[in-house]
Amino acid sequence: MRIAHSFLTIMPEKILPEAFVARIKGQRPDDADDFLRAISGDPWLSIRTNPFKPQESHLPVAMGDAVPWCSDGNYLNDRPLFTLIPQFHGGAFYVQEASSMSLSVALSVVTPLLPPHPTCLDLCAAPGGKATLLLSRIGQQGIVVANEVVRQRAWILRENIAKWGAPSAIVTNKKPDEIAASGVTFDLITVDAPCSGEGMFRKDQTAIDEWSPKAAADCATRQREILTSIWPALKTGGFLIYSTCTYNPDENERNVEWMVNELGAEIIKLHIPEGFGIETLQTSTGEAYAFYPHKVKGEGLFICLLRKVEDTIPQRPDTKKKGLQRIEIKESKQGTEYTNGLKVYLKGDELIGLPATLASAMTELTKALSPLMAGVPIGTVLKKNGTSVFTPAPELPLSAAFKSGSIPEVNLPEQQALKFLHGDSDLLLPDDAPDGWLVISHEGLRLGLVKVIGKRLNNYYPKEWRIKMNINR
Ligand code: SAM
Repeated sequence: MRIAHSFLTIMPEKILPEAFVARIKGQRPDDADDFLRAISGDPWLSIRTNPFKPQESHLPVAMGDAVPWCSDGNYLNDRPLFTLIPQFHGGAFYVQEASSMSLSVALSVVTPLLPPHPTCLDLCAAPGGKATLLLSRIGQQGIVVANEVVRQRAWILRENIAKWGAPSAIVTNKKPDEIAASGVTFDLITVDAPCSGEGMFRKDQTAIDEWSPKAAADCATRQREILTSIWPALKTGGFLIYSTCTYNPDENERNVEWMVNELGAEIIKLHIPEGFGIETLQTSTGEAYAFYPHKVKGEGLFICLLRKVEDTIPQRPDTKKKGLQRIEIKESKQGTEYTNGLKVYLKGDELIGLPATLASAMTELTKALSPLMAGVPIGTVLKKNGTSVFTPAPELPLSAAFKSGSIPEVNLPEQQALKFLHGDSDLLLPDDAPDGWLVISHEGLRLGLVKVIGKRLNNYYPKEWRIKMNINR
């Protein structure tokens, strides 16, 4: 919805809301002009590579400088057409704005303080930028529940998490108070809150169009509601990383001060090298950090690490009132041959794989949160004419836990791989490709499944994931 307000201040290219410009001039009297001018510049483009995917596969994008605060982040000098890069679909990298990768800095401080197998929640996770970063850092030893409240966005999140391939991920579609009501608790919660989006003004005209002083004030109120709702789900002694992509102090500094004063949090310092250009903000309760458009190669962002020292909201929402139902899953002997290091469970008629070291905690989370995805979808077993028929899940070959060779694999050149991703059935397979289920890969990166019966090929790449544009360049 477009909100009517005055647009009187004309910058070189972008027209910014007058009230926003006035506030920035008050916030930063010394360098407001540089700040506002930078918003009219070109946005930076960056990607983050995936440690769960074969590192030898060549990425067909020309990497620029490294992102200083994130070891697997790189700027790109040119914008490629990502849709036509098979590695993009296979989860080899995630296109993520560089400032958002600052979660990496907070995680480098938090990770050594977490228990050996932490349970983490990314509360506002779609489309999945921060959740995939969390998985890169914590997914080897701990669980990451990636949650998104908006249903349609939750399915996109599920797609991106499935493609990232970390076996210890769970994807849910819950409201914050439903998660708290379920009784599960977390060692770490990240809240990348819905916000007024001022930090996106450089790359997103809609963020400018939708901004108003009232919308920004409403965001601050909603953020406190979200934080209040999820606070009971954070263990005492657990950590919360709060971030927004706005410059508004009411959504940033005032909210972390409020968490300290009202919720019983303390702020933990991050150690940020000065050369990064990230500004330290002194709040009345401790340090927070801000990315400003004229100081860093990235968009606007605010981040603060907090710890729950005491539980000041002892009342937990009543599970029965919220109507949360526990689901049943049980251990299964079927499907174990397709993965490494996973225990297999039957959830309805679906086989799912959970990392053996995390299986007991992940089954509890799965029962309590009825997720859209838990661990590795392996496939379904259905009885047909008295025999059990196994159909592998499209997500199975994308997982890092997939056992290589358990389903024969064919490596296709770029154009054929794009045809597969487009959903085509007339693929040119090698002459010696066997009948039955086949994993399709490109440059050693697994993309999905087809089934060959004689001359017929069925493409099992999910319809919602398929490339919609014309792939013939
Ligand atoms: N963390 C994501 C990433 O890195 O890709 C971006 C998250 S975006 C800034 C904020 C998300 O919060 C949106 O996906 C939005 O749908 C969700 N959201 C909106 N209202 C919410 C609420 N009341 N409680 C929880 N999440 C909410």
